[in-house]
Amino acid sequence: MSTATATARSYKQMYIDGQWCDALSGKRLRVINPATEEVIAEVAFGGREETRRAIAAAHTAMQSWMKTTAYDRAKVLKRTADLMRERVDTLARTLTSEQGKPLAEARGEILHSADTFEWFAEEGKRAYGQVIPNSLPGKRHLTIKHPVGVVGAIGPWNFPVTLQARKIAPALAAGCTVVCKPASQTPLSLIGVFECLIEAGAPKGIVNLVMGSASEISDEFLENPLVRKISFTGSTEVGKQIMRRAADHLKRLSLELGGHAPFIVFPDADPEVVAKAAVIGKFRNNGQVCISPSRFFVHKDIEKRFTEVAVESAKALKLGNGLDPGVEIGPMFEKKAMDNTIALVQDAASRGADILTGGKRCDRFEKGYFFEPTVLRGISSDAKLLHEEPFAPVMPILDFSKLDEVIAQANNTRYGLAAYVFTNDLSVAFKMGEGLEAGIIGINDPVPATPQCPFGGMKESGLGRELAHEGLEAYLETKYLSIKLRD
Ligand code: NAP
Repeated sequence: MSTATATARSYKQMYIDGQWCDALSGKRLRVINPATEEVIAEVAFGGREETRRAIAAAHTAMQSWMKTTAYDRAKVLKRTADLMRERVDTLARTLTSEQGKPLAEARGEILHSADTFEWFAEEGKRAYGQVIPNSLPGKRHLTIKHPVGVVGAIGPWNFPVTLQARKIAPALAAGCTVVCKPASQTPLSLIGVFECLIEAGAPKGIVNLVMGSASEISDEFLENPLVRKISFTGSTEVGKQIMRRAADHLKRLSLELGGHAPFIVFPDADPEVVAKAAVIGKFRNNGQVCISPSRFFVHKDIEKRFTEVAVESAKALKLGNGLDPGVEIGPMFEKKAMDNTIALVQDAASRGADILTGGKRCDRFEKGYFFEPTVLRGISSDAKLLHEEPFAPVMPILDFSKLDEVIAQANNTRYGLAAYVFTNDLSVAFKMGEGLEAGIIGINDPVPATPQCPFGGMKESGLGRELAHEGLEAYLETKYLSIKLRD
């Protein structure tokens, strides 16, 4: 029996107003393991009415939660972080089983998310207002912070725990309450986080979990006046739809959307070291990462050596069921994602690209969505791969010769989430940092995300920032108090 087959099939409920509950219709949705295509669990599949109940519970709970001190709220968040660390092995196995990423990456996701809970537990204590100097003698001015209100939090499947932690932790720290909607295919690991929150003492109603129809749940988030903010992570297309409709009620929005990150290597960098780092960065979670490097611009003087090492390293990666020891690359998340990858590679090849390794489903596996890590060169500038967000284990390598030209090429996209630069020249690093249109720029750093630094995109990659102090401010309103003193 394979490790994945051993995973017990179970049924999980939604969590509304402090109670685990079924969908009112009794409907359930199956959760599939992408490595084996087996059903590993069923979850309650609700809709609009369950969401309405969850929002009402969150609204009621907020009246007392917002009046507790930041220090008391921090205790719940800190205890949640501790429980997630204690349960990291179980949570990581659940995450791998539903999403496909190797166990080591799943552990990394749980621990990073625990750090996010702990960091916001502390940052909530720093929701400072200001005392502003007065221009008239009899007046005093100050600002205080106020929680935005009930938050609807919608997340995707690629980091189902991390991307909800970036919403739940700052919202609760700020005194808001939350209704979460996970991606339909990956609810299980977030349910595990909810178990930690409940055991950590989260009062009833402050966090709620609804699973079900995306359109019904988001319709209720958008139309229910009790929801004051929607925090969405997902595709740019859905982000735009939410933004259009949120305008009707002027709901606050945080939007974390797609990306198409350039990875730029200058001639003073070591091509072998950087090629190895590039392969790790590119194929992490099969490239299904919003900040995944997806266009590799390598200076023409070192492009040949960089490409040789990248191909060797990509070929050496061990593919398999993420639950099995030593596996470095799991399956892609779903068949649709794999088919889309095949289409992008075929389009690039039909326009003259050389497929140096990979380019097809890995036929060693009878089941599962395994795609070979792929490296391409000689790609035409009109290939879809260079313009559509690939979200795939594909590494297209291009060459360049001048700094200004590569900045223009890197910026030639509607996206502006992440960018990577490899150089040992401080002047080049600064010029690139200032010239690139991206919210997150890793300079000799292929993995820049950390709870204390802002994360988010420019252009069509989103609105606002998560993490860091900005990530807390996203859940706070500023209120200005003007006081006229008695004579
Ligand atoms: P998606 O299709 O936009 O789905 C994301 C979430 O939105 C899911 O929970 C989904 O529910 C829900 N949803 C789908 N249609 C909706 C609608 N019409 N209204 C409201 N909600 C809707 O995105 P995805 O394919 O899951 O995720 C991949 C995308 O997310 C990529 O573009 C990636 O770059 C982006 N992403 C961005 C960041 C960031 O921080 N910037 C991080 C990770 C991922 P169902 O699952 O039930 O359909």
